[in-house]
Amino acid sequence: MTQEDQIRQGVAAIIGAVGEDPNREGLRDTPRRVAKLYREIFSGVGVDPVEAFTTVFEEEHDRSVVILKDVSFYSMCEHHLLPFFGVAQIGYIPAGKISGASKLVRALELVARRPQLQERMTSQLADAIHSALQPDGVAVVIEAEHFCMTMRGVQKPGSRILTSAVRGPFSTSDMGPSEFLALLQRR
Ligand SMILES: [Zn+2]
Repeated sequence: MTQEDQIRQGVAAIIGAVGEDPNREGLRDTPRRVAKLYREIFSGVGVDPVEAFTTVFEEEHDRSVVILKDVSFYSMCEHHLLPFFGVAQIGYIPAGKISGASKLVRALELVARRPQLQERMTSQLADAIHSALQPDGVAVVIEAEHFCMTMRGVQKPGSRILTSAVRGPFSTSDMGPSEFLALLQRR
């Protein structure tokens, strides 16, 4: 059985289990649609985010900080299989290697498109950048709203969770980890 067939069967079973009729007109095609959707939103499963950095440039003399602001993403909470979504602030202090902004965005997509936890996603992205570019410092701040909390009234809609990850060594730049984090969070 293909992966898509397995998802279709599973979704049909859930529809039946909640007391609905899987053969009702509006629901008949739902397992197929969900299977197709899941292939896309879980396309990061088993892919190392370091693979996003297909092109890395050597830049010996450029010490300027690279910051990518407000990159939006959508992920799926692995505890409830409901979306969490928000924005990421991604920054690094190059130490000889830089990459295009599109590679950072791609790495974010790879860690987002899998059953995920916001804390782990933040660390995985920081680690991927750290490993691909070996910068003097890297920081990632993620702000996200979780449907599993807001839909059930555990939190009010619009309330967000903030996570951050910083990796060193911060040996050649003037900034330390907390200063770099503060710079990333500046509006
Ligand atoms: Zn959840």
